[in-house]
Amino acid sequence: MTDLGELYQQVILDHNRNPRNFRTVPGANRHAEGYNPLCGDRISLDVRVEDGVIQDVGFQGSGCAISKAAASLMTAAVHGKTTAEANELFRAFHAMLTGGPNAPGKLAAFAGVRAFPARVKCANLSWHALRAALEKIGEPVTTESPSD
Ligand code: ZN
Repeated sequence: MTDLGELYQQVILDHNRNPRNFRTVPGANRHAEGYNPLCGDRISLDVRVEDGVIQDVGFQGSGCAISKAAASLMTAAVHGKTTAEANELFRAFHAMLTGGPNAPGKLAAFAGVRAFPARVKCANLSWHALRAALEKIGEPVTTESPSD
C-alpha cells in the first residue's frame, strides 16, 4: 500500500472525509448518473444551470476515496462557473490524468492518480457525469463502453 499512500494526499483525504456539496440540489434542472464498474463507484449528480452559469451543484453516491474526493473537488471547482468554463476544467482535468500539465488549483491534487490507470476512471467519473448533465445526454454514463 506504499504507492497508494502517496495517492491519498491531504486534499484527497480531506475531501473524502468531508465531501463538499454531498447533497441533492433544490430546483436542479440537470441530472446525470455515473457508474464505474471496475471499482463499483456510483455517482448521482444534480446541477442547477441558469443563464449558462452553474448556480448550484451537488452529488450523492458511494465509492472509493478517490471517486468521492474527486466528485467533491469537482463540485467545488465548477460551482459558480459558466458551463463553458466547466467544460474547460473537464478538459484540463482529463488532460492531466492522461499525462498533460496539472489542472488548476486543488484539482492538481489528483496528478498522482495518472500513475494508477485503474484509478484514473475513479477520478474521472464525476467529471463524465458533469459533462453528461450539462449536455443533457440523459443516459447513465459509465467508464466502460458496452463492448467491454
Ligand atoms: Zn473507485
